[in-house]
Amino acid sequence: MKILCIGRNYAEHAKELKNEIPSEPVVFMKPSTALTRNNKIFFYPEFTKNLHYEGELVLKISKNGKHIAEKFVRKYFEEITLGIDFTARDLQNKCKERGMPWEIAKAFDGSAVVGNFVTMKEIENSGNIHFTLKRNGNVVQRGESKDMLFRFERIISYLSQYFTLLEGDLVFTGTPQGVGEVKLNDVYEGYLGEKKVMSCKIK
Ligand code: MG
Repeated sequence: MKILCIGRNYAEHAKELKNEIPSEPVVFMKPSTALTRNNKIFFYPEFTKNLHYEGELVLKISKNGKHIAEKFVRKYFEEITLGIDFTARDLQNKCKERGMPWEIAKAFDGSAVVGNFVTMKEIENSGNIHFTLKRNGNVVQRGESKDMLFRFERIISYLSQYFTLLEGDLVFTGTPQGVGEVKLNDVYEGYLGEKKVMSCKIK
């Protein structure tokens, strides 16, 4: 199982981190050891002093595919949830300054939190999915899938030009504005519309 991730997919988030708005999807990966399942504790890593949460819609690939045309993308995922792309921002900034890959900042153990998956059919308004990330009960991020620079169709078609997508692979689709610093004992909860799908505690 692999975890493919899209960066800078919301213009307002690209701006808050002073990044350029990309003309093609920005892609990185996390290994299977990065997965943290719903309701599991996330242990704050010792190598960072500035861990950030990034709440994101996560798709689960339902069928193997390569070179998938955009018009067929909907046949390749059936389920969605909310996840957190935990990021060691201090390490990432160092990597970016040096023009180096940023895996140590993004792909470390446990860094990909995923909630419970729900079928696309269960989502009301699946053409524009509303999602929310709460931190200690307060909303910190609110997103709408219509604000993505690259929609699901484009993302999956694009990824499949480079990587064979396998059933069970996960796709993190990017975070909206409102990312911020994680503190010990924080509790994060993710919602698709009104439905709570994800919970994660920091230790
Ligand atoms: Mg992200």
